[in-house]
Amino acid sequence: MGDIPLMPVSDARARILEAITPMVPERVPLAKALGRVLAGNVVATRSQPPADLSAMDGYAVRADDVQTVPARLSVVGEAAAGSSYDKPLKAGEAVRIFTGAPLPAGADSIVIQENTERYGDYVIAREKAKSGAHIRRAGLDFKEGDVGLSVGRKLSPADIAYAAAMNVPVVIAHKRPKIGFFSTGNELVLPGATPGPHQIVSSNNDGLSALIESAGGEPFDLGIIADDIVAIQSAGRHARDCDMLVTLGGASVGDHDLVQSALTADGLTVDFWRIAMRPGKPLMFGRYRDIPMLGLPGNPVSAMVCAHLFLLPAIAAMQGLHAPLVLTRARLGAALAANDKREDYLRGTLVERDNALPVATAFERQDSSMLSAMSAADCLIVRAPNAAAAAAGDMVSVLRLR
Ligand code: AMP
Ligand code: MG
Repeated sequence: MGDIPLMPVSDARARILEAITPMVPERVPLAKALGRVLAGNVVATRSQPPADLSAMDGYAVRADDVQTVPARLSVVGEAAAGSSYDKPLKAGEAVRIFTGAPLPAGADSIVIQENTERYGDYVIAREKAKSGAHIRRAGLDFKEGDVGLSVGRKLSPADIAYAAAMNVPVVIAHKRPKIGFFSTGNELVLPGATPGPHQIVSSNNDGLSALIESAGGEPFDLGIIADDIVAIQSAGRHARDCDMLVTLGGASVGDHDLVQSALTADGLTVDFWRIAMRPGKPLMFGRYRDIPMLGLPGNPVSAMVCAHLFLLPAIAAMQGLHAPLVLTRARLGAALAANDKREDYLRGTLVERDNALPVATAFERQDSSMLSAMSAADCLIVRAPNAAAAAAGDMVSVLRLR
């Protein structure tokens, strides 16, 4: 067994992404659109501003009338946001105007309030007016027909405000992929239970659920399944209407690792199994009936790290995102020993510095069961297969976890 070459991490990810097809589009109201990925362009249905508007509180004037100051103008009306002065401004006239109000016809400048004195039905302007001053021209922000937001964009809060301003209350986005998953293990109990001395509280279900949610997927938790062929097959079938099945644990070579044999007998075709990575060697990927299937290791840290490296990119691709894993450069805070033939992902801290690369320091203990370390980790420090020993200060690549 030891002779079988293990698949490199990047090849494994590429094979997974090749097997992914983007979700179909659906209509999503803006209130639900944060983080969703556009499957259709957002096109402005009006121009903004829709007309020339005042950008200040003051007086709309003809700049020609206010070239010699002080200048006296008669105040013939008022325009506030949402209302207008509808007659054309004549020579020697001014209209009291407020921010956001439409500029009256004939006016070409705003004299700001601070530079005026008001006496009943006339006003004295104390500053010379410049044509165009303090006016937001129609279409300054965007024009009707403009493509404001394009396909593939993951919507931020500002994007949602922008779509609303374009008067597009519903956008076309890829459906969120529904990810069904279950843990296997006779030793597992749910959080909140009273575990016996040999039982382990399942951390993977809730952890994976949160990770799926954070990536825009829709988690579908099928619970804890016994190490039993029939039970595993039945759990798999419950994921039939999901867009992807993820299993946790039971993927290794022990007598109780039954996921592969159980599901292979029930519609799973394995693409690959076992990769050159630590933590997480027994990773499995294939097609279960009509959907992609990812088998994650049961060790909680291995499960999390592998989910970051393989499941999150898959969920992104299902939403139509091209989101390559972004590695950051950092300096090592402490020396590292030479690596063996598996790509290593060390849990560690990442400390930011002014005008210098951040400092990444691996935790002393890297046991793949230690959730305390995974929770404390800011990053995963990536060690290439067969990397030489590295000293403090050497450059490394890290995957940020926050
Ligand atoms: P397995 O991959 O099934 O061989 O599990 C490897 C290790 O991870 C064992 O020590 C399991 O008890 C532990 N483990 C498996 N599944 C979970 C889970 N859902 N939550 C916490 N630990 C788990
Ligand atoms: Mg197990």
